[in-house]
Order: sequence, then C-alpha cells, then structure tokens
Amino acid sequence: MDIIKKNLNIKKKIQSTESSIIKYPYGENDPYAIIELVASTQIYSKKYNIDQMPVLSARVSHASSGKSGNNPDADLNLMRYLADNEHLSPFEHQSVTFKVILPLFVAREWMRHRTQSYNEVSMRYSSDPVGKFYFPLFWRKQEVKNKQSSLGMIENQKECTEILKQTYQNCLDSYKKLLDLGVCREQARLVVPVGNYTQYYATANLRNWFNFYRLRIDGGAQWEIRQYAKCIDEILSQIWPNSWNVLKETLDKKTKKKAS
Ligand SMILES: Cc1cc2nc3c(=O)[nH]c(=O)nc-3n(C[C@H](O)[C@H](O)[C@H](O)COP(=O)(O)OP(=O)(O)OC[C@H]3O[C@@H](n4cnc5c(N)ncnc54)[C@H](O)[C@@H]3O)c2cc1C
Repeated sequence: MDIIKKNLNIKKKIQSTESSIIKYPYGENDPYAIIELVASTQIYSKKYNIDQMPVLSARVSHASSGKSGNNPDADLNLMRYLADNEHLSPFEHQSVTFKVILPLFVAREWMRHRTQSYNEVSMRYSSDPVGKFYFPLFWRKQEVKNKQSSLGMIENQKECTEILKQTYQNCLDSYKKLLDLGVCREQARLVVPVGNYTQYYATANLRNWFNFYRLRIDGGAQWEIRQYAKCIDEILSQIWPNSWNVLKETLDKKTKKKAS
C-alpha cells in the first residue's frame, strides 16, 4: 500500500522515464543477456494517463469514465478493488513489448506463456546467433526434496565452468565443420546447445505480464528466469507504478493469508 501512495504523482514519473530501458539480468558483465522496453501503450488525451487505464475501462460499465483522474485516492482504491477481486479484464488494455536476449533453455520456459506474441531470430536464416553462450555466475547443487529445483552452491565452481567451456567449444567447432561441409544452417543447428542465446520480441497486456511475473518470480521457478521476471518488475513499476503495483500487492496479500 505504501509503495503505491509514494507513486501517486505518476504523470511526473512517466515523463521522466527513459523510452528504452535495458537491464542485464545476470549482471552487467554478461555480454548478452538483455531485456529492453521497446513499446508500451499511450493515451492520446491530456486528461488521463495510461496508468489510469484500468479505472477508465472499469468505470465505462456505469458510464462514469469521466470521473477518473479527479480523485487519485478513489482511482487507486478502485484499482485495488479490481485486483483484489480478480476483476482483471480492466488490466488488459495496456500493452508492453520487450526485446529479450536470453539462453535457449530459459526461452523454452518463457514461451510456455501462450498469451504473449513472439517474433524470434531464426537460426535457419543466419549463423550469427550461434556461439553466444551463457555462463552461470554460480553452479548450484541439485535440491533433493524438490526434484525440479536447486539448493546451495557446488564447491568446485571452476571445474564446472571448464567443462561447460569445453562443451561449448566442441559444439561451436562441430557447427562450423558442418557448415564447411556444406550442410544447411537448419540442420547444422542440431548441435547448438541450450545455453546458446536467442532473442525475440515479446508482447502482452499488463494482466498477462503479471501472470508471467507471478509464476516466474516464485521461488519454485528456475533462478535464471527469475532474473528476467525481476527486470520486468523494475521496468513496469517505473512506467505504471499504480496499475502494476496493485497487481503485485495481491501476491503479498496471498502470502500473508497463507502464513496466518
Ligand atoms: C515453476 C514452474 C514449473 C513448470 N514446470 C513445467 C513442467 O515441468 N512441464 C511443463 O510442461 N510445463 C511446466 N511449466 C509451465 C506451466 O505449466 C505453464 O505452461 C506456464 O507457466 C504458463 O502459464 P500460463 O498457462 O498461466 O500462461 P499463458 O499461456 O500466458 O496463459 C495465461 C492464462 O490464459 C489461460 N489460457 C491460456 N491458454 C489456455 C488454454 N489452452 N486453455 C485454457 N486456458 C488457457 C489460462 O487461464 C492461463 O493461466 C512450469 C511453470 C512454472 C512456473
């Protein structure tokens, strides 16, 4: 609740936001991982701003959209009511496009989110994407209880990285050899490992970005995709502090309810 109160002066905040925000999910030293805000919905009226879209669209039910913007507290309360009661269609009018550069194994998880629209680089068209590899900052141990998860750090980090380095090099050498032998790119890519980076544009509305965030920020999601979820949160918190944060608040409320 406090986060939202602090952000009431949203118009000012939006004006000061860069049109393109780039993050490095695995740390600034990672040469490839990027998430960039490419496009987001605008309102062509001086009366409203886009962060009010959920209340504008909700109030159309009783033909009272014009009331929006006069009382920021009432707008916020309505937005919160909508989010708390899962009346979520008013959160579907704000569209966001990100350009994402991420390892293939993360992309496979990400693309399970079917309500996003995608356009991805083609390894049939170009060999350029091949050879840009992800190196984990830390090697994690297998979690025993949760078979999908990891827990704690491996002692011999260097050896793990060395194995990965060699494997990547072998894959890259094989890829190049196949191309030299005249094999088409669409088959040569069979040797490309899931640690290779890919890139795509992903577009969704706010409701579906929240669904992505909710599922992928959770401790049960893989660490690598969680870093991208964090970036999305940072960016959306900046551009639409009210409508994004009321959605996020519902997570806190659920967690508190579970704990009590
Ligand atoms: C921690 C974690 C572990 C996972 N492990 C696995 C795994 O082992 N194997 C695996 O296959 N997947 C796994 N998944 C993927 C998961 O099953 C979902 O496919 C993924 O999280 C996308 O969620 P979603 O369907 O809500 O998103 P979206 O596809 O974006 O859909 C958003 C919402 O739209 C509705 N919707 C979309 N499509 C349909 C449809 N066809 N029918 C009905 N309603 C629809 C649903 O309400 C859905 O919640 C995992 C996900 C997480 C977060």
